[in-house]
Amino acid sequence: MSPQRIQLHGPEGTLVIEWSDGHRSTYPYRYLRDRCPCATCTGPDAAQAEKHGEPLGAPALPIFGTEALKPRRAELVGRYALQIFWSDGHSSGIYTFDYLRSLCPCERCTAGRNAAE
Ligand SMILES: [Zn+2]
Ligand SMILES: [Zn+2]
Repeated sequence: MSPQRIQLHGPEGTLVIEWSDGHRSTYPYRYLRDRCPCATCTGPDAAQAEKHGEPLGAPALPIFGTEALKPRRAELVGRYALQIFWSDGHSSGIYTFDYLRSLCPCERCTAGRNAAE
């Protein structure tokens, strides 16, 4: 599964991916950011920081959260993943295409995932 086209700044604060099978995924930025797969965001430290109400990944930015979150830029990692550089300074998340596809929040994919469980 690979994207045909990636639109970093889609309508209404979303990242849009058009897949090679014709499917189209629209991800709100916050949705994607919350699902950052990097070790900082998924590790035990992340759970700890969350408990203390501290922002993740951007300790040098005290104004974290006041600015609308958005991806500043994104880079392809090889042929299998997308690295997103967020406006909060965080950039260590590598979103593989498989992962992104599995995150697709559209009704069809959500229904498919629920049915598989
Ligand atoms: Zn992260
Ligand atoms: Zn979908």
